Amino acid sequence: MKNCNKCQKEAFVQTNADVILCKTCFTSVTEKKVKQAIKKYKMIQYESKIAIGLSGGKDSVVLMHILKKILGTDVKLFAIIVDEGVEGYRPHGIEIAVKNAEKLLIPAHVVSYKNYFGNSLDEMMVERPLGKTSCGICGTFRRKALNKKALELQVDYLATGHNMDDEAESIMLNVVRGDSRRFTRQTREPDKFNEKLVPRIKPLVLVTQPEIVWYAIANNLEYHDDVCPYANEARRNSIREFLQKQEKSHTGTLKNIINFQDKLLEQIEEELEEKKELFDCKRCGEPTDDINMLCAGCKLIGNLPGIKE
Ligand code: SF4
Ligand code: ZN
Repeated sequence: MKNCNKCQKEAFVQTNADVILCKTCFTSVTEKKVKQAIKKYKMIQYESKIAIGLSGGKDSVVLMHILKKILGTDVKLFAIIVDEGVEGYRPHGIEIAVKNAEKLLIPAHVVSYKNYFGNSLDEMMVERPLGKTSCGICGTFRRKALNKKALELQVDYLATGHNMDDEAESIMLNVVRGDSRRFTRQTREPDKFNEKLVPRIKPLVLVTQPEIVWYAIANNLEYHDDVCPYANEARRNSIREFLQKQEKSHTGTLKNIINFQDKLLEQIEEELEEKKELFDCKRCGEPTDDINMLCAGCKLIGNLPGIKE
């Protein structure tokens, strides 16, 4: 392999056709992408308290290390570790999650479905409520558990390890399901309209899945890589495969999908904003969006022959 494009040291990874980087340069490029995402989507205010949803898997472990490194003492970090209650699978992940948090001196809080909702995931799977899929049920309770603990900790943000692949998959899933409501709600800026929901942020949204694995390797991070016995997101997996192939043959596909949604939401928002701005027609008093404050009817009336205002 050739040398690093930036510093000429020993190469570590070829991130695309023309970029070869050493461990140090790759690490700093990845951290820059996180800073970029935080800035672009106005994710974090100075001196805020942030809880990280820490599973022990590569995404959340990398997220926690990067946030600690780039935000340092500007913010206060906590880790929330959710124990879904899956025998033979979850305890190992929890152990690794706790170990990582301890290493960074970040206080870790373990919460469980059993304590919060009276049943472990194993127990829920015996009688699947509402005939939903395992990941559907589990995801719902995970969101709830993280939010509950985040509220208890009185944090300003809840950060999750969703990466660029996850985000592009979710966008495409909403498209193929025709779920326009979810599509328009899936924004990357923290939502602050409901005080019972801690605003969520996804600082890894500009980092791809392979980059997360490389980051973990380059920085010797220990993570949990076992497969959950209930994993069943068949449709998401087929979309993932499709998108990974696209990304491989057309680098930038994932980013294009995210940018596409960003732009679309911006346009819709502008339109909605414009629509929201109504004036009282100065002739008849009916609402109008016309900047000259005349409704369409009154404008017509003013132009009819023989009518003098
Ligand atoms: Fe839950 Fe599905 Fe993840 Fe298993 S794979 S922990 S069921 S969301
Ligand atoms: Zn380098």
